[in-house]
Amino acid sequence: MKEVPNILWLEEIRKEDITSVGGKGASLGEMASIGLPVPKAFVVTAQAFRRFLVETGLEKKIFSSFDKLDVEDNEALERAADNAKALVMKAKMPAAIRDDIKTSYKKMSAGDLIVAVRSSATAEDLPDASFAGQQETYLNIKGETAVISSVQKCWASLYGARAVYYRAKQGFDDNTVNIAVVIQQLVPSEKAGVMFTSHPITGESITIIEGSWGLGEAVVSGTVSPDKYEFDQRGEKVVDVFIANKKVEIIADGDHGTKIADVSKDRQDKRVLVDDEIAKLAMYGKIAENHYGVPQDVEWGVVEGTIYILQSRPITTIGKKEAKSMDGHKSSAKIILKGQGAAPGIASGRVVIIRDVKDTGGVKQGDILVTKMTNPDMVPAMRKVAAIVTDEGGMTCHAAIVSRELGTPAVVGTKNATNVLKNGQLITVDGEMGLVYEGEVAHAAPSQAAALQAVAVNAPIITATSVKVNVSIPEAAARAAATGADGVGLLRIEHLILGLNKTPGWFIANHKEEDFVAELHDGIKIVLDAFPGKTVWVRTLDAPTDEFRNMQGGENEPHEHNPMLGWRGIRRDLQSPDQFRLQVESFKRLWKEGYDNLGIMFPMVSHPDQFIKGKEMMRGWGVDVDNVTLGIMIEIPSSAIMIEDFIRAGIKFASFGTNDLIQYTLAIDRNNENVADMYNPQHPAVLHLIHNAIQTCRAYDVECSICGQAGSDPKMAVWLVEHGITSISANIDAIAKIREAVARTEKRIILEAARTKDAE
Ligand code: PEP
Ligand code: MG
Repeated sequence: MKEVPNILWLEEIRKEDITSVGGKGASLGEMASIGLPVPKAFVVTAQAFRRFLVETGLEKKIFSSFDKLDVEDNEALERAADNAKALVMKAKMPAAIRDDIKTSYKKMSAGDLIVAVRSSATAEDLPDASFAGQQETYLNIKGETAVISSVQKCWASLYGARAVYYRAKQGFDDNTVNIAVVIQQLVPSEKAGVMFTSHPITGESITIIEGSWGLGEAVVSGTVSPDKYEFDQRGEKVVDVFIANKKVEIIADGDHGTKIADVSKDRQDKRVLVDDEIAKLAMYGKIAENHYGVPQDVEWGVVEGTIYILQSRPITTIGKKEAKSMDGHKSSAKIILKGQGAAPGIASGRVVIIRDVKDTGGVKQGDILVTKMTNPDMVPAMRKVAAIVTDEGGMTCHAAIVSRELGTPAVVGTKNATNVLKNGQLITVDGEMGLVYEGEVAHAAPSQAAALQAVAVNAPIITATSVKVNVSIPEAAARAAATGADGVGLLRIEHLILGLNKTPGWFIANHKEEDFVAELHDGIKIVLDAFPGKTVWVRTLDAPTDEFRNMQGGENEPHEHNPMLGWRGIRRDLQSPDQFRLQVESFKRLWKEGYDNLGIMFPMVSHPDQFIKGKEMMRGWGVDVDNVTLGIMIEIPSSAIMIEDFIRAGIKFASFGTNDLIQYTLAIDRNNENVADMYNPQHPAVLHLIHNAIQTCRAYDVECSICGQAGSDPKMAVWLVEHGITSISANIDAIAKIREAVARTEKRIILEAARTKDAE
């Protein structure tokens, strides 16, 4: 294998070099390679650092001092960390490394270029171990002596007490952790800021740019309220400009470090960016977003009319409505309706009552859609509105599922919204608390900087239990992927078909089978493309007959006394081979195109024979059923009870569909607001079924997951991890909190086990 040199230039770096150059270095190299205007830079590689440790003899000294360290003993930790840092600082850098840095620095510019020296940590099992803020960055560094000493300071910062503690808690072996150092031309920005390449809250194609005078740190750290611009990528124009009063800026302090300075009066209210600069920045943002496949959070700066892109990383919390909370006005505001908070966020607007899908033509952007219960054919209208309120339904009804994915606040199950509210009435909907207020109620928006920080990515939390995401509409795929989820634990494909407003039966009766297959194929492909290399479990059709009623072909659907207990899921597919075959045809095409991360999940199975029959039908249609991933949903008590027989029948995974499992265990209609308070995911009987099924799956080493709404509740996630679940698939808006709950629980379990062992 070729030896990695001490220095790599940005132009030579690709993302595969991450273990040599760390996350920061790899990302800069990747950005430069797609033509973004990145300031000049080179990286002192992780291998150079290792050579330094070995050649100076520090490797043994440092690691033996960490060997027996109890990181919970503060004093001992501080002592060991100080000692290691001092050793690194005092050691003489090997001449070869020193010379390489000097030569490279000289190569950057004829004179002494001002640079930023940034740490970029790496670990063997986690290429980017730059845990937020734990290693140092030195700005405004000039001259080779200062550069070399800053590199050594970055190296030493790897052994800061906080960093050592954090790594120990994360289970990293310090011996395998390296550090690369990026030396980059410091762009003395006259103006700078951040950009979200898509709307950070809704995921729309709106680029949001914030900018202020001086270095970007002022915007990132929240020192200043910046100007804000919105650029609509579809219309390619600036659609909103907010000019802030910018009182301070961060600038270079002589030739070392930075300082905060007052902005002169004449620039305080002056607009920072002109339209052309906004358009150009948005274009760079689009290039980055297209390249990485997910919306990006970009740092930029402008010097003498030249735009530089300084950093680009994924936005992970798109779809998470900002942490808006009602402010003091709330107490005086009048609550006119209460229901269940089904999709978080707060919005005000005019009521438009929809009694029939034909009325949806009149729905305007920003209205509040009020209806008995939404239907798949209402989705186009649901996309436009600011919030949704329904009479019926609970947390798992159609309105709740789709609103969460659209990122639109929703209150469901208010019982009488369509009677109490009047067309044109101004109301405010709080989708977190499940409340509807009269009029427009002011709510405190977070400060710009706080909102920006809230949506920016921090170091990913690694969990042993996979945290996956549920997707129902392909347009939510990018937002779902931006959460960093470990895959898709449920893709409900009925929404792909129902959105066309025609029943599967209509396609078959009208010989439009190819349209049906193509629609499924294209929709699923969007989701697969958003999750390269991660598993995506696609569920075969599962829509109760009443959901088909309003569509073309709906007149042929049977009238069922209780559709929830009726002709849905695998039971309908097994009796309607044409409908099943067309779905399988779309899966076959995707497998043939190389999407081997696609797994198929059968819903509503109640007996292993159904799984076997489904599998054999697929075999008959040419699927290599022994080599593709087929699994089931556990959503009927019988399937939880008979899980061992399902495993013997060959399932590769099982996933709890608690929305149904609860309703069938407790005899509570999940869509009936009158009994919603008895719909209890933590009912002992439900937990008993789940516990037993998990244990059986574990005994046979079969992946056991959950994709029902209960998996989006952190309390339930804690219980599930404690009981040994393999993965949890949650809603987009819940991923961050579920990941945190899972990580905490896992650590607690490990800690408790260690303490018990110590006590023995
Ligand atoms: C479930 O039943 O928990 C589930 C995820 O499926 P659906 O909500 O689509 O019935
Ligand atoms: Mg279900």
